[in-house]
Formats: sequence, structure tokens, C-alpha cells
Amino acid sequence: MKEKVVLLKNQGYNVDRIEEKLREGFDLLGGDAYVRQLIPTGAKVLLKPNLLSVEDMDSPVVTNHVFFESVIRVLKDYTDQLTFGDSPGFGTSQRAAQKAGLMEVAKRYGVAFDDFTDKVTVQLHDSLLVKNWEVARVSYESDVLISLPKLKTHGMMYFTGAVKNQFGCVPGTQKALWHARMNNSRNFAKMLLDLNQVVQTKFAIMDAIVAMEGNGPKSGTPRAMDAILMGPSITAVDSVALQLIGYADPTEVPQYDVVRETGWGPVLPQDIQVVGEDLETMKVDDFQKIRGTKEIFGNLDSLKLVKNFIAPYPKLTWEKCISCNRCEEVCPERPKVITMTEKQGKMVPVFDRKTCIRCFCCQELCPVGALEVGETLLGKLLYR
Ligand code: SF4
Ligand code: SF4
Repeated sequence: MKEKVVLLKNQGYNVDRIEEKLREGFDLLGGDAYVRQLIPTGAKVLLKPNLLSVEDMDSPVVTNHVFFESVIRVLKDYTDQLTFGDSPGFGTSQRAAQKAGLMEVAKRYGVAFDDFTDKVTVQLHDSLLVKNWEVARVSYESDVLISLPKLKTHGMMYFTGAVKNQFGCVPGTQKALWHARMNNSRNFAKMLLDLNQVVQTKFAIMDAIVAMEGNGPKSGTPRAMDAILMGPSITAVDSVALQLIGYADPTEVPQYDVVRETGWGPVLPQDIQVVGEDLETMKVDDFQKIRGTKEIFGNLDSLKLVKNFIAPYPKLTWEKCISCNRCEEVCPERPKVITMTEKQGKMVPVFDRKTCIRCFCCQELCPVGALEVGETLLGKLLYR
């Protein structure tokens, strides 16, 4: 049987309208009975929004606060035991939740907050790659984890959605360690799938109303996609999101090629049934993606010698840099790839491309968008 993903059309952030859409979405999956099965009586439900870093309210970097409120309104009909939380890549989760407006919404509706600092150790026996895990206790012990990802581009993984959203369940600075330990995008993808085996998302509701294209996941451009995606399979939800932004074959993106290869979850269009809106009429063909193909990227990981001539790299725009050092701080490699060096009268990062693992943590967390995914000349030719 095909995996169902609900696709809904919705413009802008109006709390009543989104609530109505979400209820329509659940109706398409089986209505009240479906939600009652998803959230059994007395179940503890964890909402996991994307709070990548401390961002302003209405920023397309994070799950929108109005969207979050609409989700709570619907789920409140089924449980009073709602908690939300995340562990951002930089800054405290409390601050990130406050600034993005989620904390205020949660207080109004009596939703508890968890800062993801209480950890639990878990062993995963049938892992693809990673057996020993430390994750936020609440993400492991809640009865139902509902992921609330944002549709965005991502420097290293090309795309971030319902699969990658759970990376926030890894507490604090440990996220940087995973970047250092997983030396290529395919291993990083396997690590993400193992993590999703540990924390087990039961349902995903993706905020793709205003997505992010270009220099994501933090410094890209807002892009109105007017879409909400819902479904119990995180890989299927991401597959539909990828098709929406112009990937005819979602496995062009390495992490979803790994999903296909390992049979981890439904990802191929023929295995997924889109219900609600017609996917074809909502697809866009000019979404600014991170460029690359699975073949070239896959080969790159093993071809160390040519990697520096082909692989995308963190590229600095000198004028934008505010010399904050954050990129140097977050770089997971040892010794650091980045050295802050004086150039034209200010301290800016200088990169050693030979040792850079292309995790793009620096690009992801630069507060002013001074770093982007740069392309080499040879890379440009190959990726065309
Ligand atoms: S590139 Fe960005 S993160 Fe690095 S020092 Fe400049 S402003 Fe800070
Ligand atoms: S310089 Fe940037 S992309 Fe390279 S390893 Fe460090 S954080 Fe990752």
C-alpha cells in the first residue's frame, strides 16, 4: 500500500485558517479516529519544532509561531499533555523559543517547555551506522513525537525537512561532534536515520508556507510555497516536499538516496500517495536549490585528491562579516579549519580547504549570512 502524505494549500500565517487546514488534513487521513489512534488517551506528546538558532519572530529559519499555535489548537482536542522543545545549534533553547514567539504561545495554551538538556543514553542494536546514542530524554520517553519541520535548503545536506529536524534531539554541542565524526554526507544521512530510529517520530507536520531557498538553512531567502505537508512517514513527507521544490527524483539528494538504498522508508514518488491538493499544480521549477547530484557527491566523498577542486566550500563575503568568531567556534574539526586573520583592517575567517570536511556548520550558524556555499569552477561545470 502506498504511504499517504497530505498536501494542503495555505497562504500566509493566519491562526484560524491554518487550524482549519490542519483539521482538513487529518480528515483526509481518517479524521477523529485516526488522530485518536495516533494520540492514545493520556499520551504524552512532544512537539519538536525547528529552532535552529535564536531568530526573530516570523523568521523563515524557524517553525513559525502562528503555525505552532494552530497545531496546538488541534492537538489540544486530544491531549492535555503537550510539551515542546529543541536544542538549537547556537544559543540556548529557552532564548530561541522566546525570540521566535513559541514560548509565549506555549504559555498561553499550557504547553510545557523542555530545554533538551536532560539526556538519556540509548543503544540501538540494528543500526545502519551508529549504535550508541545520547539524546534529549523527553524525545525518547514521550509517547508520541510530532515533528514540526520547516522546508529549507541546507548547505551540507541540500535540504532539511522532517528527517533532519530530529537532529535537534541531540543535546547542545554534541551536534558539532557528529559533524566531525561523520566524514561525508552519506554517513551523515545514515547517522540521521539511526537517530530517527531512536527517537521515532510518529507524525510530521511541515511548515512550508514560507520556506527558505538559496543560502539555507539560516541565511537564505524566504520563499512563499503556500504549503503544509502532513503524514506519519518522515521520509514520505520529505519526498513530497522535494518534489514540490523541483526534484523530479527525490533521491537526487544524497540523504534520500541512502533512504532508498537502505529501504529505511518510502521515498520514491511511486510509493507515495499525495492526498489533498494536486502536487503537480503546486510544484515550482525555479526554487533556488543547493546544487549537486548524488553520483558526483557520492564519488567526491571518496576522491580526496580531487575533492578540493570540485566540492562546494564555505565562501566568505568580506563586506558582510562582523568578525564575531562564531564560525571558528562551531567548526567541529580539530585542528580547526578556520583561522581568524586580519584582512583589509578586520578579522575574518580564513579556511584551510584541504582539511575542511564540508559540514557547513560555519555557514549554517553565521549570524549575518556572510558565508555561503561556494562552487569551484570545475564543480560548476560538473554540476550543470
Ligand atoms: S563569517 Fe560570519 S560567523 Fe564568521 S566571523 Fe564573520 S560574521 Fe562571524
Ligand atoms: S570550515 Fe566550516 S565547513 Fe569546513 S569543517 Fe569547519 S565548520 Fe565545517
